[in-house]
Amino acid sequence: MEFRRLGQSGLVISEIAYGNWITHGAQIDEEAAHACVRAALDAGITTFDTADVYSETRAETVLGKALAGQRREGLVLSTKVCHPVGPGPNDRGLSRKHVIEGCEGSLRRLGTDYVDVYYAHRYDPAVPLEETMLAFADLVRSGKVLYVGVSEWTAEQISRAAGLARELRVPLVASQPQYSMLWRVIESQVVPACEREGLGQVVWSPLAQGILSGKYLPGTAAPSDSRAGTEAGKGFVDMLVGHWMNDEEALRAVQELGPVASDLGLTMSQLAIAWVLQNPSVSAAIIGASRPEQVKENAAASGVRLEQAVLDRVDEILSAYIVR
Ligand code: NDP
Repeated sequence: MEFRRLGQSGLVISEIAYGNWITHGAQIDEEAAHACVRAALDAGITTFDTADVYSETRAETVLGKALAGQRREGLVLSTKVCHPVGPGPNDRGLSRKHVIEGCEGSLRRLGTDYVDVYYAHRYDPAVPLEETMLAFADLVRSGKVLYVGVSEWTAEQISRAAGLARELRVPLVASQPQYSMLWRVIESQVVPACEREGLGQVVWSPLAQGILSGKYLPGTAAPSDSRAGTEAGKGFVDMLVGHWMNDEEALRAVQELGPVASDLGLTMSQLAIAWVLQNPSVSAAIIGASRPEQVKENAAASGVRLEQAVLDRVDEILSAYIVR
């Protein structure tokens, strides 16, 4: 496993991180979840990503149990706050009340005294950014949070947050956006803003939720043991990657990546993960997995370098389907 600095901070993270969205506490049982975490640790992954909202907070509890007994200093744990986690008006958003209480809940479920990176899961237009950043500053000062990140914020929101972070001495170091061969929206504005402000990209869904593994075939129903074929996952697949999943031509184009990968001795999943890691502004790719074999396969993409000719061929194959 290779390691990178998180943006311009001193924090060192594994360039492949393991995330438990949809899987822990929902799609897979606890035994399978533990096996995936074990496989991640065996592959040298040190960096684990979750959120309070995943599986209605169960994902944090499962991850906390799976990591119990590990040397805390050897792990980089991140979680997130913003999406609703309860019925009340203050069980959501980025108010001072919810950020502080949300962090306490996450620490309890994860079974730890601090999180390494605490993310604002989305921007909250209802709350003054000053209030949110001051709450993060207090969490940092109390030692419950070491570094702060934002997820799916625009370039303009990130620049304003970075200005406040400087004033309040908050180590705002990470942006967590969606990024893959197919979804490249961050390249035009978010990445330049983050480079100016010193934030690294910790990117999610590098396989576009499994599409780039090549297992979804045009004109064929999704396998019943895949995310798109299961109750826990298919709604998220439809919502976030449905425009490719339901487009036979797009799935056909993805199949053309198969020979590009095999010529390099890679699987399609490894090619897709290596592709996001080619971007120097990316600090880590967060992989998801429903079984340990996937973790092992995907983690082997660490350290793979792709020639420009390969990147050009990927662009040529996918050109009609890339979202920028
Ligand atoms: P991926 O794009 O890597 O998709 C992972 C899924 O693809 C797996 O669960 C598995 O699903 C399938 N898969 C993985 N490897 C293989 C393989 N080698 N062969 C075949 N199928 C494979 O990432 P996710 O969408 O899971 O996102 C990763 C993480 O990013 C999340 O866990 C979370 O931590 C973070 N995230 C953050 C968000 C945010 O808003 N900040 C939003 C979403 C995710 P299956 O086997 O069931 O088909």
